[in-house]
Amino acid sequence: MVTDEQIRRVLNAVPKGLLIGGKWISTRTMFAVEDPSTGEVIAEVADAAPEHGIQALDAAVAASADWAATDPRQRAEILRRAFDLLTERAADIALLMTLEMGKPLAEAAGEVGYGAEFFRWFSEEAVRIAGRYALAPSGGTRLLTMKQPVGPVFAITPWNFPLAMGTRKIGPALAAGCTVVIKPAAQTPLTTSALAAVLIEAGLPDGVLNVITTSRSSAVSAPIIADPRLRKLTFTGSTAVGQKLIEQSAEQVLKISMELGGNAKFLVFGDADLDDAVDGAMLAKMRNIGEACTAANRFIVHRSVAAEFSTRLAERMGAMTIGRGVEDAVAVGPLIYSAAVEKTTELVADAVSKGATVLTGGASLDRPGHFYPPTVLTGVGTDARVFREEIFGPVAPITTFHTDDEGIALANDTEFGLVAYLFTENLSRAITVAERLQTGLVGINQGIVSNPAAPFGGIKASGLGREGGTEGIEEYLETKYVGIKL
Ligand code: NAP
Repeated sequence: MVTDEQIRRVLNAVPKGLLIGGKWISTRTMFAVEDPSTGEVIAEVADAAPEHGIQALDAAVAASADWAATDPRQRAEILRRAFDLLTERAADIALLMTLEMGKPLAEAAGEVGYGAEFFRWFSEEAVRIAGRYALAPSGGTRLLTMKQPVGPVFAITPWNFPLAMGTRKIGPALAAGCTVVIKPAAQTPLTTSALAAVLIEAGLPDGVLNVITTSRSSAVSAPIIADPRLRKLTFTGSTAVGQKLIEQSAEQVLKISMELGGNAKFLVFGDADLDDAVDGAMLAKMRNIGEACTAANRFIVHRSVAAEFSTRLAERMGAMTIGRGVEDAVAVGPLIYSAAVEKTTELVADAVSKGATVLTGGASLDRPGHFYPPTVLTGVGTDARVFREEIFGPVAPITTFHTDDEGIALANDTEFGLVAYLFTENLSRAITVAERLQTGLVGINQGIVSNPAAPFGGIKASGLGREGGTEGIEEYLETKYVGIKL
């Protein structure tokens, strides 16, 4: 049981200023951070103006050459120390995340483990950056390629995974020798500031990481992106905002990574192990209260098993305990803000008006905070908005298919292409379907695919670039070719 004293201690410990050039700086105005499960203000943080964004970039630029010249081992050891500190302090950081974002404590602790792993992984990658050396096919000239840090990075992160979306960008950037300015979402600035404090404690030099918290994301970000000294923009968030940022990045021809919206499909074939499929569905749908880019958005189930799968999923989802994430046994916290509850309510009403049936949930809850109950809908048609739009909430719409071709066509019928899950006991079918799905990630017989050692990212409107794996560091490196005549 979390006590008020623990909550006070954890909130008090977080720096509330902007981190610029190694110093925490206060601003004239502050903005409030709320607990979405109560609507109460839990902290006030510095509200950066556009000039603070430029000062943060100044600091990142000033630190850039020295940081790029540090020994890879030194960069690796700072990241590794930060991994150890995050691991030691997992309980406090998890509590902080639950307070500002709402997810249940056990899930927040899971995110600390997952998020910290990006630092351990990229501490290991920092010392493996290598180019190549070859003889030209016609002989004579030697071809040397070298990898160099791209330069100062601007990272913009969302509220749904406040720690992991930061470490997934900061880890490879620092490992590659890049300096960073990071702007967290206004709903969840505290976790990013706590993360930055950990990196400073781990020995990160001044100016290598700069944090700007702001209630004016667009006004503060645009001048940084327009500044010719910036060389890389990495963004995780909605496709609509990503598209605007891609446009802005064109002016300075920035190297960009875009982790955008998802509309994950969850395919259950007639030969699936239904125990595994329901377990996988619970993870793919209910992790993070459905507020994940990887959240299963459409369940596409073979008609021979659809009734049993739907009933079992509805039983499991209907039995979940809803409440404040800090309370024991709570499995479903609040959505991030009231607009998310309104959107979820509208999506469910739209599906029902077009013929869907509610098996569980489906009505908003009469309690303070932004809660919506786990909901299962069957008989959802492809004309329903839930089928096309990213739900970002605890709603599982189920539709059925007959032939494999039909199931795959339904799955690919979206502009998004982040992740698909498929459940079958037939290996040939699993591989064939995985090959035909238009996504950057596929989970076979598992409802979670994110792994720091694997390349995470989407195709189509879900984004550009990969985070994690051996690919992740490449996003922060340029390749230089040197031709040598001996
Ligand atoms: P969002 O509205 O796009 O915001 C994401 C970040 O962008 C926040 O820091 C936000 O700051 C900032 N932002 C918004 N407008 C901006 C602008 N004009 N210029 C610069 N920055 C701007 O997305 P969200 O609602 O927070 O997050 C949910 C979305 O993220 C979903 O679509 C989800 O699929 C996606 N997501 C994708 C991945 C992935 O890896 N593919 C992972 C997690 C989430 P403020 O909020 O302070 O305005």
